[in-house]
Amino acid sequence: MMKNPYLLLTPGPLSTTDSVREAMMRDWCTWDDEYNELVQKVRHRLVTLATKNPKQYTAILMQGSGTFSVEATIGTVLPKSNGKLLIATNGVYGNRIAQICDYLGIKTVIAEANEQEPIALDTMEQLLQSHQDITHVMMVHCETTTGILNPLEEACQLAKQYNKITIVDAMSSFGGIPLDVSELQIDFLISSSNKCIQGVPGFGFVIAKQDELAKCKGHARSLSLDLYDQHETMEKYNGKWRFTSPTHVVRAFYQALVELEAEGGIQARYERYQQNQKLLVQGMKKLGFQALIKEEYQSPIITSFLYPEEAFSFAAFYQLLKDQGFVIYPGKVSRVATFRIGNIGDVHIHDIQRLLTVINNTQAKGAVVR
Ligand SMILES: *Cc1c(COP(=O)(O)O)cnc(C)c1O
Repeated sequence: MMKNPYLLLTPGPLSTTDSVREAMMRDWCTWDDEYNELVQKVRHRLVTLATKNPKQYTAILMQGSGTFSVEATIGTVLPKSNGKLLIATNGVYGNRIAQICDYLGIKTVIAEANEQEPIALDTMEQLLQSHQDITHVMMVHCETTTGILNPLEEACQLAKQYNKITIVDAMSSFGGIPLDVSELQIDFLISSSNKCIQGVPGFGFVIAKQDELAKCKGHARSLSLDLYDQHETMEKYNGKWRFTSPTHVVRAFYQALVELEAEGGIQARYERYQQNQKLLVQGMKKLGFQALIKEEYQSPIITSFLYPEEAFSFAAFYQLLKDQGFVIYPGKVSRVATFRIGNIGDVHIHDIQRLLTVINNTQAKGAVVR
């Protein structure tokens, strides 16, 4: 088996286990029952991971990266006329939702918050009051731009107080942070194969409330991204996809789900990510790197660090770490210079310790990155 040349400290694709990658080493017939049953098992497991009330919900798998599933959901859920989406945003992924709506010709109202602050509940409420034609409310759970964790419970509660349908981009949090879609009153939740479930990239999935999905027939603006139709086919033909499905990716994803359970489920994975993140921030602080987001808002998924000094060269720092087996991520914040280190994936406390040692040694050698 080929060894990975570096550990990915990025928010997806991420480092997977050898056993997840090994699971891809055979071919599948998409018409065969054995494969379709695998798809059904994946769908069933996803629903049980998402809620203690699995009967109310269903899971739909969709080809493509996570954004394809975000676009499929928005394009299928919002009615063709008289729909208006309130978007709460504090980063790139929230803004991408607005961009998708522009492409699809969907009316929006935007509650924008500073990138370093959680989404603005007060602005959301004002907009809900002043735009009574809002039909749906959407937000990002963990805004991967910065690593900030948004107040999902409060935001969904607010939306439901005004009787709106709730859509959540939980791309970088589902599987890594405990949540229950039924308790939180989430109608549609979106994530993908290559984030906290720790599979390889190739498809996204949506956990949908059955009653709400049932109302979406004929809404879709796109054939290939028709979530309703995709669900119909998966239900009617026992796990069949409408168009070619990413068979190897699905098989690897199933293995990743088995490994999530073996780890002790979402709670245990959450604790591992938290331990990784805490050690990372403490260690980096000792080496002179300050985290961007206040600790109380920080997610255990990915951390943004400020450049330690103006002369800091991210490119040089990146190369030094890559040479020693770690790949990190550039920053995405608009106003300040940052870089990001993710700790999701098959990443453990000893990996973070090794990373900190490597950074310490490069600094000690005077290889300060200018
Ligand atoms: C990764 C991610 C997405 C999807 O990105 P793709 O590149 O399309 O997979 C969407 N939203 C958030 C918050 C993400 O972290």
